[in-house]
Formats: sequence, C-alpha cells, structure tokens
Amino acid sequence: MAITPPRRPPLEFEAFCQLHQRPYLLYAQARSGSEGCARSTVERALDELSLRWRTALQSPCLPARAWELLSEAAAVHDPCRQERRWCTTAYDLLPDEQADVIVLRHGVNLNVGQMATLMGADPSAVRIRLRAAEAALRRRRPKMRTSPFLSL
Ligand SMILES: [Zn+2]
Repeated sequence: MAITPPRRPPLEFEAFCQLHQRPYLLYAQARSGSEGCARSTVERALDELSLRWRTALQSPCLPARAWELLSEAAAVHDPCRQERRWCTTAYDLLPDEQADVIVLRHGVNLNVGQMATLMGADPSAVRIRLRAAEAALRRRRPKMRTSPFLSL
C-alpha cells in the first residue's frame, strides 16, 4: 500500500513566511488599523500562497506574486476601518498599488529599497509610484500637507 506523505509546506515556504510575516503584519495593520484584521489578512495571504506555491515559484518574481495576494487579502478588510484616517483616504483616492507604497512609506516607515524588496518591484519603479501617489494626495487633499505622515 502506498503511503501518502503528510501534506507539509516545503521548507522554502516556511522560510519565506518567516522572512515576510512581520513586515506583512505591519503593512496590514497600518492599512486596516486593527491587529485582528491584520492577522487574518496575513493568514489568508500566506494560505493562498501555500496553495499556489509551485506556480508562484515559477512566476517571474515570487515576492511580487506574494505581494499581490497580500494586497488582495488586505482589501477584504478595507470596510472594517473604523475611523477615517490618512491611509483610508489613500485607498479611496488612489489605485491600490499606489496607496500601498504610501502605507509602506508613511505608515510602516520603509525606505524605497526596503519597499522594493518587500514588493518584489524595481526600486526606480517604486520611487516613481511613491512620488506620483504623494503628489496626487497633496493635490487632492491640501490639508494633508500638515499630516505627520506627509510632511514632504
Ligand atoms: Zn477586518
């Protein structure tokens, strides 16, 4: 009788989780404003990633694929946000990929290089996205100029 090996995630997946769990949680918490939502966001994203692990490994960029899953999982909790905070505004006004860099820069305090690594993106592309997002927020919400997060 053939023995089915227990379904265990590969070691590379465990290593990926260990490396990314904390920054993912910080992002999800900054975006949702809630620890519970952040935890369930990251759990869901990593679950999805584990189900798609083999194809994700073959994708052009694993961190980018994982980031997509994380951002999608985080969007589920956007309606949970209680107060209208600066990052709520960012998601109301900007495409998610631009609002994400606003949250990572001003909510989690990552620099462009750290954001690029985490999102699996090119640093120059992240810098362009961040400048565009900051400019769009400044244009649309002049009072955000005085926000501690956007004292540019
Ligand atoms: Zn939630």
